[in-house]
Amino acid sequence: MLAAVVRNYDVGVRLEEIPDPVPTGDAVVVEVLGAGICHTDLHLLHWRNRPLPLVMGHEVAGYAEGLGPVLVHQSWGCGRCRICLRGEEQLCPDVTEAGFERPGGYAAKILVPHPRYLLPLGGLDPVRAAPLTDAAATSYRAVRRASPWLRTDHDRVVVIGAGALGKFAIQFLRLLTPARVIAVDVSAAKRAEALTLGAHEARTGDELAGRRAEVVLDLVVEHDTLALAAGLVPPGGMIMRIGSGNGSLPFGRGVLPPEVTLTSARGGSISDVSAVVDLARAGKIRWDVEPIPLSEVAAGLRRLERGEVTGRLVLTPTGAGDD
Ligand SMILES: [Zn+2]
Ligand SMILES: [Zn+2]
Repeated sequence: MLAAVVRNYDVGVRLEEIPDPVPTGDAVVVEVLGAGICHTDLHLLHWRNRPLPLVMGHEVAGYAEGLGPVLVHQSWGCGRCRICLRGEEQLCPDVTEAGFERPGGYAAKILVPHPRYLLPLGGLDPVRAAPLTDAAATSYRAVRRASPWLRTDHDRVVVIGAGALGKFAIQFLRLLTPARVIAVDVSAAKRAEALTLGAHEARTGDELAGRRAEVVLDLVVEHDTLALAAGLVPPGGMIMRIGSGNGSLPFGRGVLPPEVTLTSARGGSISDVSAVVDLARAGKIRWDVEPIPLSEVAAGLRRLERGEVTGRLVLTPTGAGDD
């Protein structure tokens, strides 16, 4: 089958013919119809900390024999520990993930270890649906976990970063909470789009001086965004680190108001992904994708790196015109 493989970090992704995956035990082969190109994939190429060869692609939708079009939950836990048994395999200490430790969706086929990771799409277009498994599910779970702080329309939530995850977060905040949603982004275009997705306000960080927000979702995680978050939360508020930047925030005495909750995010559970699929099927959320053939993967990664992408780029390894 055709796959985009990283064998050498200096070379990056290269198209190759590799053997088809062979299922054993409970494993299922899924024909990949859509694989989202995520910012995390750029990080993987920069961090250079994953074993090679690497087939990236953790946002995967495809066709499974007997099930039809499915979304692939990317995080595969041990299935036996307490965390897995409560349905949160993405938090399992022994988790392996599609596109990280295990071959992902930048290929014509992917081997999925168990059918429980396959969620029927119920009429959603697989190419459009692919980013739901990560970008949308991560945001959904973050909003669900923040919702106890956001019970009235007097509560405020600041979303720092109105990129792919931020755009989903704004919509889930409006769907799941009555809170006032304030989007923060350096880009005027992204601020404008945030307003069309339901944010009550869209600001630059500087414009929030002196303001308060019970919850700050930081989808950027640089030193200055975490400092902004620390300045916004009142006593008892919460800050969630969601983005994959390298910023940090001191946790010592006197740094934050009392009883502020600091937490982090890591993907979504199978039930989070399932809830997102239901909302998408009901037409409750909006997102844009740009399908591109697998043969253009390197160019797609370069465009994402240069910030030349508005919707999610989705590879179509077995789609029309991609052979
Ligand atoms: Zn991702
Ligand atoms: Zn486990």
